[in-house]
Amino acid sequence: MEESRRLAYLERLGITVWQRRGVLTDPGPPTPPKLEAGDGDEAEAPGAAASATPAGCLRHRAASLDWESLREAVLACTACGLHAGRRQAVFGVGNREADWLIVGEAPGAEEDRQGEPFVGRAGKLLDNMLAAIGLDRQRAYIANILKCRPPNNRDPRPEEAAACAPWLNRQIDLIRPRIILAVGRVAAQHLLHTERPVGRLRGETHWLELGQLRVPVIVTYHPAYLLRSPLEKRKAWEDLQRARRLYRESAS
Ligand code: URA
Repeated sequence: MEESRRLAYLERLGITVWQRRGVLTDPGPPTPPKLEAGDGDEAEAPGAAASATPAGCLRHRAASLDWESLREAVLACTACGLHAGRRQAVFGVGNREADWLIVGEAPGAEEDRQGEPFVGRAGKLLDNMLAAIGLDRQRAYIANILKCRPPNNRDPRPEEAAACAPWLNRQIDLIRPRIILAVGRVAAQHLLHTERPVGRLRGETHWLELGQLRVPVIVTYHPAYLLRSPLEKRKAWEDLQRARRLYRESAS
């Protein structure tokens, strides 16, 4: 990517790059943290505790689906209680043959409304992060651990994540990405089956094994967290560079 464009993207991320002797230096002063627009308190939808389909059945079913039947199955899914409170399930977006898969946590209010992952303020920051390494939504695929929005944007419950996992696993199987970028704690912990915090997962290459498939996973901070903690953007930038390096090395 042309240097001036890269610098412009970094600027939009809030990362100031001092170009002395080709060395990246400290970020500029932090922009004041702005919280995501609050959605107000919402009660769990009636029936939210109910789980209709055992994860094992779904796993079996999902494994044979093509893209269109997978999409239909996800949009109609009632495998956990979250279906009762959603406007729509958020399937995923992007290039189904992408080398890069970006995995987030779960749809928020705006994603639930629009049916697309990462469309709110965090989504704009994610777009800028991707642009900084020469990617956009047409070249990557973006999906979440959960397809349905948890009320009040609470963390996914283990049984919800387990119920939803066959859908994402099938997406991974169909895409066969060359690299996965896990954004945020929830994505990283569920993909890697660990309880380690993001701060201890980033900075190294992890591996996701799915049948015959073995995909490197790079962990970074969630863009919503970066909006609240702009000083961490520099670390996220390091993670993105690591991911890009790994991707390039895997091609050679
Ligand atoms: N946060 C996520 O993790 N995923 C989305 O789709 C939106 C916000």
